[in-house]
Amino acid sequence: MDQKNIFLKILKKEIKADIIYKDKIVTAFKDIKPKAPVHILIIPNTLIISANDINEENKNILTHIFTTAIKIAKKTGIDEKGYRLILNCNKDGGQEIPYLHLHLLGGKYLGDIL
Ligand code: AMP
Repeated sequence: MDQKNIFLKILKKEIKADIIYKDKIVTAFKDIKPKAPVHILIIPNTLIISANDINEENKNILTHIFTTAIKIAKKTGIDEKGYRLILNCNKDGGQEIPYLHLHLLGGKYLGDIL
């Protein structure tokens, strides 16, 4: 299986994922190897490889991705205690899957690395 297109395969329903939210613009599903009690990935429904590919034309998608993450945080009840949103970009940023995705992490104290 081509690991590179794994999120594309999830969108096309070629592989299973625990999808918790979907609308016309974004899809959110549980991370397969959760790093926290709540670990959700939010992706655009049209392929954007990384943060480097955000431009004037598609920049509004970021607002929708972040708004969705916040809604999910509230729905899962982690909003009051807090959560972390992470968007890795390319090799040094630790991006493994070349499909733009926002991590929503919470449900425990996540430490103070930053
Ligand atoms: P990143 O390192 O920012 O590219 O994050 C990629 C994330 O995708 C990791 O946290 C993986 O655990 C997660 N992941 C990889 N494959 C799958 C999958 N099939 N379903 C859900 N999450 C996945």
